[in-house]
Amino acid sequence: MRCTPEAIAAALGDIESPNLRRRRELAPDGRVNFCSNDYLGLANDERVASAMADAARQFGAGAGASHLVSGHTAEHDALERELADFTGRERALVFSTGYMANLGVLSALADRRDLLVADELNHASLIDAARLVRSTSNLRYPHGDAAAARSLLDRYAPGVIEAGGGTFVITDGVFSMDGDLAPLPALATAIREYQGWLVVDDAHGIGVIGRTGRGSCELFGLSPREVPVLVGTFGKAFGTFGAFVAGDSNVIELLVQRARSYIYTTALPPAVAAATRMSLAIVQKETWRREHLNSLIMRFRAGAKARGLRLMESATPIQPMILGQAEEALAASAKLAAAGFRVTAIRPPTVPHGTARLRITLSASHSESEVDRLLSALEAAT
Ligand SMILES: *Cc1c(COP(=O)(O)O)cnc(C)c1O
Repeated sequence: MRCTPEAIAAALGDIESPNLRRRRELAPDGRVNFCSNDYLGLANDERVASAMADAARQFGAGAGASHLVSGHTAEHDALERELADFTGRERALVFSTGYMANLGVLSALADRRDLLVADELNHASLIDAARLVRSTSNLRYPHGDAAAARSLLDRYAPGVIEAGGGTFVITDGVFSMDGDLAPLPALATAIREYQGWLVVDDAHGIGVIGRTGRGSCELFGLSPREVPVLVGTFGKAFGTFGAFVAGDSNVIELLVQRARSYIYTTALPPAVAAATRMSLAIVQKETWRREHLNSLIMRFRAGAKARGLRLMESATPIQPMILGQAEEALAASAKLAAAGFRVTAIRPPTVPHGTARLRITLSASHSESEVDRLLSALEAAT
């Protein structure tokens, strides 16, 4: 881009024309929120907020430095141990965001000689992380297609291994804009043959999926050996902020030594770590949250079917309704807003062209009657 005001204005003009310009709206705004990632209703939990406030008084508002300088506190340490326990891994490492966790994992564990095989609908942070590796074999397979992943491995892994490289299959556990689950067992089987690693970003699964909320790996009964690198975030079901990577001790130690997005950034505020510890305890103790959420998911899907609303196939709290063009999604979102519901329209480039959608998300904080009223509003708006 030319460094002129005209070039900037022209770039903005390009975005404005096809209804694709993004706008931020202040939250909360009094409407019932059906598009947040606060799946268990913990973001506004009094105990979580108090844990944060108490820790802020003790440790201050910020960490003051990166983890390797002086930002690593007892709250981070305890959270890491509790996360290792929760995920059944030897060790966990807290990152300041999920975006940085993904950049850190791939840039520390993979290099140019390695084969990266990734789902085409992976979260943007995984896509950027794979780019950062600058592998000459950075490949994508059609969404959710484990057979296609396997044929990429069969075709390219032997040559890469021969040349001294490793292989990685990289996927979201639950896809953030579609709500469907990755075919983890088939991916784990495919990669096993090449002694590679399955990297799972379970940002939308941790806390929510699986009988005890341990995520997609629990749902499919996959062991830490089958999923050696597990990424989770705190900004979704935990209702706070930040992320972690769990794995065996040496994998985590290598991240501490090598992940630039871990080393060269300020540690998560200790108060956020304390709040997340409280969330993690609640996630494990209050199983009613997942039960209520699952009953809302079933209620929503049954109600949508009865009203002829076409939802995507999804068993998770992410229940998208594809409308096609950006303007259709915007119009529906505006009608829902007028009816008292917040459901943001999701448009390209977040999702592929022609698949603009309402990404409806359910939460344990919703009531049955709110879900019923949303269904009526959706019927009127689409
Ligand atoms: C939200 C999300 C991230 C990013 O996490 P942040 O902590 O918000 O940076 C990464 N991966 C997936 C799949 C996500 O949904």
